[in-house]
Amino acid sequence: MKIAVLAGDGIGPEITAQAQRVLTALKSDGLKLELESGLLGGCAVDVTGEPFPEATRKLVTKADAVLLGAVGGPKYDSLPREKRPEQGLLAIRKELNLFANLRPAILYPELASVSTLKPEVVSGLDILIVRELTGDIYFGQPRGIEQRNGQRVGFNTMIYSEMEIRRIAHVAFQAARKRKGRLCSVDKMNVLECTQLWRDVVIETAKDYPEISLSHMLVDNAAMQLVRDPKQFDVIVTGNMFGDILSDEASMLTGSIGMLPSASLDEQNKGLYEPIHGSAPDIAGKDVANPLATILSVAMMLRYSFAQEDAALRIENAVRKVLAQGFRTSDIYEPGMKKVGTIEMGDAVLANL
Ligand code: NAD
Repeated sequence: MKIAVLAGDGIGPEITAQAQRVLTALKSDGLKLELESGLLGGCAVDVTGEPFPEATRKLVTKADAVLLGAVGGPKYDSLPREKRPEQGLLAIRKELNLFANLRPAILYPELASVSTLKPEVVSGLDILIVRELTGDIYFGQPRGIEQRNGQRVGFNTMIYSEMEIRRIAHVAFQAARKRKGRLCSVDKMNVLECTQLWRDVVIETAKDYPEISLSHMLVDNAAMQLVRDPKQFDVIVTGNMFGDILSDEASMLTGSIGMLPSASLDEQNKGLYEPIHGSAPDIAGKDVANPLATILSVAMMLRYSFAQEDAALRIENAVRKVLAQGFRTSDIYEPGMKKVGTIEMGDAVLANL
């Protein structure tokens, strides 16, 4: 299992260092892991002038999975667009054809009061949003702004082929199979033909998964239900734009950006795993960043790219125990808990592993 580690910028090196300690511990327990580091984002611009250098392209192409910290920072904001760190992120997703984005929103009962929603609404929340990542209105042609009849008109194209819908539906059904067996497909079929096709193809794909209970919901209702009663969901599958919005909404139900991992997968389950947060330049280098989202990203990697469910559960259980023992980085701190830094949080996870 070859893993490329791209620490990136800001807090990236601090949080990936803790995730690497977890991987090293699993390796010494017998998992056959090989780790190799590379440059992506601002740190790559500093050294090579490019946010996604050729050496990194080669490294991630031959790796079976990629662990990413985060990229970006104010130092790079004035660079031309093609040299910005975020371009490295878009380029790596494109290079690896990562069409499936998996974003769990889990709220451990110990952190229920961190959410802005009532604890009884969100405590124990465990949902997974599967978002299509390479199609839809974000990439559809034609697109643009042009003059028509003496005024400017802006337009984009919402487009999905049945192949694109079917492959993301398969990812979602398979994810539901590993969870509680319920899948909700979100569309807007009452007004958009593109998403009528979405619904039709999801229903066709469901024939391969008779054990999964499939439901459908219009996106406006889904946005409402996510804040009204989020625990009704197990897995949600949706297109790129709806998924962009709903996955951010769902992550904020948990109130803690430092806790949430993500996976982006290709057709062979090769994946890029990263916390959902950014490089947090405001706290970089201070040993205060929460490394748990990155450590939980490693658990997702073991589950989805390497089918090592036991190792994934070991990590997730270690994180649960750490929270139950009262360890908190400052982003999730509450009075009465044990405030720890990034490295101490890593120590606590290792101790429970
Ligand atoms: P951010 O997610 O980096 O930070 C938002 C807030 O959350 C900050 O106050 C930060 O201190 C806090 N935070 C984030 N992660 C944390 C952690 N692990 N522990 C504790 N607190 C944490 O978002 P931003 O400030 O809008 O962006 C900063 C930079 O990150 C920008 O350059 C942006 O482009 C980049 N970015 C990168 C990615 C990525 O690499 N995937 C994603 C989003 C933003």
